[in-house]
Amino acid sequence: MEGSVSNQVNFSEKEMMKYSRNIMLADIGVEGQRLLKNSTVTIIGVGGLGCACSQYLVASGIGNLNLFDPDQVDLSNLQRQILFREEDLNAFKVDAAVSSLLRLNPDVNIKKFRQSFEKNNVPDEITKSEIVIDCSDNFETRRYTNNFCYKNKIPLISGSCIQWKGQLMKFDFQNDSACYECLFEDTSSEDLSCTESAIFSPVVGIIGSMLASESIKTITKISKNCQIFQDYDFKDNLSREISFKKNNQCKICGKC
Ligand SMILES: [Zn+2]
Repeated sequence: MEGSVSNQVNFSEKEMMKYSRNIMLADIGVEGQRLLKNSTVTIIGVGGLGCACSQYLVASGIGNLNLFDPDQVDLSNLQRQILFREEDLNAFKVDAAVSSLLRLNPDVNIKKFRQSFEKNNVPDEITKSEIVIDCSDNFETRRYTNNFCYKNKIPLISGSCIQWKGQLMKFDFQNDSACYECLFEDTSSEDLSCTESAIFSPVVGIIGSMLASESIKTITKISKNCQIFQDYDFKDNLSREISFKKNNQCKICGKC
């Protein structure tokens, strides 16, 4: 059949009702909802950010979701990782997350990967993702994810959080964005890891929801921003937009 790929998707009556509040938004409409249903999103890390982000994507009717995480649910996770319950303790996070997300919306295709997102460990099919969302908690994964997205020209939407603070970033590699490495070339793993750190739980819910929001707006072509770096302090409710540009010396995206 001729026409755009998005025209090949049809909605059942139930889906039209389920997504009616999205479709009623003039900027989304039926066409935007089709783009969502056609899309494949990969989330790296199903911790606090990944739990919040995946919930909104799945509820909003994203078509296909890939989840990567090698970890199991720990008691200290339950303060903020809202897909999990006490009965999920010691289960693999991706297993518990898929079961929880499918209860929310069984019409989404979800693939789980009980593994880290790292070199030689990423199936070829992931290169077909429309968006990759980095919800990981360590710098090694962030750097690899940035490299992967840059090479495959996949927009990368990234969140991080520690204590009362959160950051939202977007790097649209289809539109000559700077990259994560341009911003954080000297950052070590210890500086960024929040695995062992204190965290005010709503911070991951807020930033995770913003990751979902930016992803949906990118897929439906509402967001015009090629790159974003926003910094938040939720203790004092402060926010700032940080401008940045491509580093010509960058070892990932630089020209030198
Ligand atoms: Zn760069």
